[in-house]
Amino acid sequence: VSFDQLDGYIWFDGEIIPWNEAKVHVLNHGLHYASAVFEGERAYDGEIFKLTEHTQRLHESARILGFTIPYSVEEIDEACRQLLAKQGMKDVYVRPIAWRGSESMGVSAQNNRVHLAIAIWEWPSYFDPEQKLKGIRLDIAEYRRPDPRTAPSKSKAAGLYMICTLSKHAAEAKGYADAMMLDWRGQVAEATGANIFFVKGDKLLTPTPDCFLNGITRQTIIEIANRRGIKVEERAIMPEELEGFDESFICGTAAEVTPVAEIGPYTFTPGEMTRALMDAYAAEVRPSLRAAAE
Ligand code: PMP
Repeated sequence: VSFDQLDGYIWFDGEIIPWNEAKVHVLNHGLHYASAVFEGERAYDGEIFKLTEHTQRLHESARILGFTIPYSVEEIDEACRQLLAKQGMKDVYVRPIAWRGSESMGVSAQNNRVHLAIAIWEWPSYFDPEQKLKGIRLDIAEYRRPDPRTAPSKSKAAGLYMICTLSKHAAEAKGYADAMMLDWRGQVAEATGANIFFVKGDKLLTPTPDCFLNGITRQTIIEIANRRGIKVEERAIMPEELEGFDESFICGTAAEVTPVAEIGPYTFTPGEMTRALMDAYAAEVRPSLRAAAE
C-alpha cells in the first residue's frame, strides 16, 4: 500500500486529522525549493526513545535553514505522544516534518507560513533481516558529503537527502544494500541514512561528525561504550585504512545497529563487539530492558 493510502491519523498544524486528509498543495516552497526539515524517531513499548533530543534537533535544523517552527519543543513532544496514543501502536517509527508553505513561490520565501506534520508508521527493520544478520554490503558512493561551506550539513534538511537517494539508488543498482559516502575531503563520512563505526582490536573508531549528522544513535553508542570502558576514537578516517579494521557497523534510528560485511573492496566479519553493541542498544531503547539493566 502506498504511504498516502494508509489508515490512521496524522498530526497536522496542531490538529489530529484522518491520514488521507493530510494533504498539501503542489505549489509549496518545501517541495519546489527543499525548504523542509524532518526527524526520524522510534518508539519502543510505546515510548519514543530520546524524544526531546530529536525535537530539539528538529528546531535546530529549521533554525539553520532560517525558519522557525511555530510550536515549542514541549508542544511537539506532546503532539508526538498524543499521536502515538491515538494510533495505539507500541513499536513504530515517528516522522515529524516542517516545511515552508505556499504564500510565495520564488527562491525568497521570507513570509511563507511554516507548517508541521507528524506521521507514525510501522517500520520493522530498515534492512532485510537475513542480510542484516550476516552483515550488509556497502558500495562506496561517488557523491560526497559537502563541505559545510557549501551546504548546511548540520541540518537534517530534506534537500541534503538528494545526495543520499542518488547514492543509495546507485548502490542498489549494483546489488548493494546501501552506500558509504566519503566527505568532500575524501574521508570516510557515513552511510545514506546512518552513521558508521569500525572495530580495531578492542577499540571503536568513528569519523568526527564535522560535515554530517552527529546521529543520536551514534551518540548513544558512544555513551554505551564509555560506560563499558570501551575506548572510542573519533577522528578522520581515510578509506585505505579500512583494510586494517576488524569489524564495521552502521547505526541510526531506522537502521538501529546493523553489522557491515563489505564496503567496496574491504571485507569485515561481524564479531563480538558488534554483537555486544547490538544487544546493548536493543536494551537501551526499550524501557523495560533499560530498567532491568540498571
Ligand atoms: N546520517 C544520516 C544521513 C541520517 O539520515 C541519519 C538518520 N537520521 C543518521 C546519520 C543517524 O541519525 P540518528 O541516529 O539521529 O537517527
